[in-house]
Amino acid sequence: MLSEPEPRIAPPLGVLREVERVSQRTWAAEAVRRDPDYFTRLQQQQAPEYLWIGCSDSRVPANEIVGLAPGELFVHRNVANVVVHTDLNCLSALQYAIDVLGVKHVIVTGHYGCGGVRAAFDDARLGLIDNWLRHVEDVKHRHEGELVALSKERAVDRLCELNVIEQARHVCETTIVQDAWARGMPVTVHGWIYGLSDGRLRQLGFTAAHAGDVDPAYRASLLSVTA
Ligand SMILES: [Zn+2]
Repeated sequence: MLSEPEPRIAPPLGVLREVERVSQRTWAAEAVRRDPDYFTRLQQQQAPEYLWIGCSDSRVPANEIVGLAPGELFVHRNVANVVVHTDLNCLSALQYAIDVLGVKHVIVTGHYGCGGVRAAFDDARLGLIDNWLRHVEDVKHRHEGELVALSKERAVDRLCELNVIEQARHVCETTIVQDAWARGMPVTVHGWIYGLSDGRLRQLGFTAAHAGDVDPAYRASLLSVTA
């Protein structure tokens, strides 16, 4: 006689329901208590000035880190905050943010202790993700001369910074940003890094507001050694 199979997803689903119940009760109620029109206003429009391109890491929640409310920060996240010239997901977020929402600042934010960057540094074999992290490994090879002179921990931290600088440059090289600059739109691209150990955001010296800024910003940021 066949017996009923055990419901395999019951425990995780239970946890999810509890998270949903508690977060809804506390976060939504608190938002309305502070501002009775909060959700009505949010529903009507979003007018963010910033696009955040960051890592998917659960310890790097974009809005909380910069202290911006929902509606104020447009967000794209992927493992190791990579900007690939042919990634339609990232490019679409960038195009929508600039051309439709009119964001004025694009901020590529990496973080120290990034598991994706460490895996690329170690040439780890984790599965499909290895192909994505190959882009970070390319950054490592481009800066091999600098990285070999550092201890392992400092080298991984430095690769986290170098990865931000390279990806910020990639943002500048997209047709979306190049065309926006050609039209005279005020779009500035930044490279920042977040410290998991102290909660601080640091600028990496990459700030480009015109096509002519990109090379000087790239060179200046490479010289700003902070790791
Ligand atoms: Zn990460």
